[in-house]
Amino acid sequence: MSPVRVLLATRNAQKLVELRRILASSDISGVQVLGLDDVPLFPEIPETADTFEGNALAKARDAAAATGLATVADDSGLVVDALNGMPGVLSARWAGHHGDDAANLQLVLDQLADVPEDRRGAAFICASALVVPPSADASGIETVVREHWRGTLTRAARGRNGFGYDPIFVPDGDRRTSAELEPAEKDALSHRGRALRALLPALRDLLTSASPRS
Ligand code: IMP
Repeated sequence: MSPVRVLLATRNAQKLVELRRILASSDISGVQVLGLDDVPLFPEIPETADTFEGNALAKARDAAAATGLATVADDSGLVVDALNGMPGVLSARWAGHHGDDAANLQLVLDQLADVPEDRRGAAFICASALVVPPSADASGIETVVREHWRGTLTRAARGRNGFGYDPIFVPDGDRRTSAELEPAEKDALSHRGRALRALLPALRDLLTSASPRS
C-alpha cells in the first residue's frame, strides 16, 4: 500500500525532523510527512486567534483545504506567570518583529528584572491540530490537543541548542536550560513533543480508515 501523505503546515525543518522522529519511534508506519515547501504555494493566513488551539486549528484547516491533504499544524509559545500568561500567542513577535528571537528573549528578561526567584515560573504551551479534509465517502475530521512544559526563567541566556526562549527556560527537574539539552532530550520532554505524541492516536485512526485519501 502506498504511504498516507500527511502535511505538517510548517517551513521549519526542525519541526519536520521532530515529527518524523516521533513517528519513527512509534508503532505507526506508512506515513509520509511533507512540509509546506513540498506542496504548491498557497496564501497562508496570519495567526490572529487569541488561543493556541485557535491558531493551530486555523492553520491546519487552511492548509488542508488548500492542498486536500490531511494536515497537522501547531501553535506554541511561552506563558510567564509574572506577566499574567504573556507573551502567550504573541511569543513570536513580543518585541515587535515576528521571529526576532534575541529581541523577544531580551524583552522578557528585562520585564522580569525585578522579579524574585520564587516568582519566575513559566511554561511552554503547544497546541497541535490534525485536520483531515472531507472525501467523497467520508466527512472531515478535526482533532486538537494541548500540552505544556513547566519550568522557571533564568536571569541570563545560556546554551546554544534550540531556538526562541530556550536559552532562558530551565525545565522543572533539571538545572540546564532547554538550550543546553540535546535535541532528542528536548523532544522527549517538550510541549511540542508531547503534543505531537498526543496526536498519534488520531494519526493511527487516519491510517486505518484513510487509504482512499492518500
Ligand atoms: P510557533 O508556534 O512556531 O509560531 O512559535 C511561537 C514562538 O514561541 C516561537 O517564535 C518562540 O519564540 C516560542 N517558542 C515556541 N516553542 C518554543 C520552544 O520549544 N523553545 C523556545 N521558544 C519556543
